[in-house]
Amino acid sequence: MGISRYAYKGKRNFDISKFDCADTGEFKNRDEAVDEFVSNLLVINKKQQKLYSERKEGVIFVFQAMDAAGKDGVIRTVFSTLSPHGVKEYCFKVPSSEEKSHDFLWRFWSALPPRGFVSIFNRSYYEDVLVGKVHAFYKNDIVPQRMKEADIIADRYRQINDFEKYLYETGTRVVKIFLNVSKDEQARRFISRIDTQRKNWKVSSGDLREREYWDDYMEAFESMVNQTSTPNCPWYVVPADHKWFARLLVSRIVRKTLEEMNPQYPPLDEATKASLQEYRDKLIASLGDRGYQEQEKQPKEFSDPSLIPAEMLQQELLQKQQENDEKIKKSGFKAVRKLLATGYMIRSTDDIMDAIAREDVDDEEITDTPEPEDSDVNPTAVREHIKEIVEKNEEDDE
Ligand code: ATP
Ligand code: MG
Repeated sequence: MGISRYAYKGKRNFDISKFDCADTGEFKNRDEAVDEFVSNLLVINKKQQKLYSERKEGVIFVFQAMDAAGKDGVIRTVFSTLSPHGVKEYCFKVPSSEEKSHDFLWRFWSALPPRGFVSIFNRSYYEDVLVGKVHAFYKNDIVPQRMKEADIIADRYRQINDFEKYLYETGTRVVKIFLNVSKDEQARRFISRIDTQRKNWKVSSGDLREREYWDDYMEAFESMVNQTSTPNCPWYVVPADHKWFARLLVSRIVRKTLEEMNPQYPPLDEATKASLQEYRDKLIASLGDRGYQEQEKQPKEFSDPSLIPAEMLQQELLQKQQENDEKIKKSGFKAVRKLLATGYMIRSTDDIMDAIAREDVDDEEITDTPEPEDSDVNPTAVREHIKEIVEKNEEDDE
């Protein structure tokens, strides 16, 4: 399934009043989306390795949303398979006095990704046409008279478009994602943050005050999408009332973007190849009798998940699941408890299955994580148990 329904590339108009924040696309529930989510993450991981090796193009994923829409959770899960050396997240807060003494785009230049890198903007210069518009902060700026007379917000839309066009033309893509949560769902999430001690830190009276400007924000978001969507630097408006769906859709957007960028491992030139061959011969000779075993070659179609047709990927996942089941039979619920005790980031059932199968949990770390009553070592039961934990974890996540 595609992402075009959610994409704004300058051709169609975004009408926020008609947008269904509770949309879950073609899925009825989270379980149906798990396999696709996992396979998207696999592809994202492989593509990022190529992007990094190629060092040809950089990419920025910009996230904007009302408070409690789930930005942090989306970023944490979707980008979790990226290698840290090639990715950096920037959280843009209220500008400092130094930042305020410059033009509004100044603070973003140092966060632009080098070629081959991914920058994640957790809020961005779009705040200057959102909160900046809603509260007309620019009216307090000490600026030349010509700026006092200008339509600052209209100018900013144009300046942002020019900035992003410049970036695109000079080797950096900008992909913008608006997580659109409904007013009721925001209220529910705020209540839960107020009620739950461990979530208290996430809510502030400022967040609650901003909620009173809801309609102004909606108007600002709508006009932002309509004024700054372009074919090369699109906006995606993601329904955010169901976290699992928002995460799935963002994984699709990231995957699609990286696929379009189509990075390739850089080929070696003939001279380098020849010289490496010489080194290889020397290395083999240095091993003497201790020898070197040729690594078995993976069948070509399995070496890059992005090249695998969906059914084959599905088959591969199924095979992996069966292999995992065998291992789980041996370790059972104990492994689940150990895993939870380590604070392993639970993202999906398959994640946990993988970690258990890798046996990457240390015995020392077992704590008093509750054991299910029925401790029959049966993969299906373990799966069910994990599913419950994942669901609970998702509830706790905001
Ligand atoms: P979280 O609450 O999940 O930790 P957050 O992104 O909401 O993350 P906060 O510190 O709560 O982080 O909020 C950052 C605040 O900074 C937001 O209210 C945002 O509107 C504000 N902000 C960001 N950029 C600007 C700007 N250019 N002008 C004014 N306010 C801005
Ligand atoms: Mg906040």
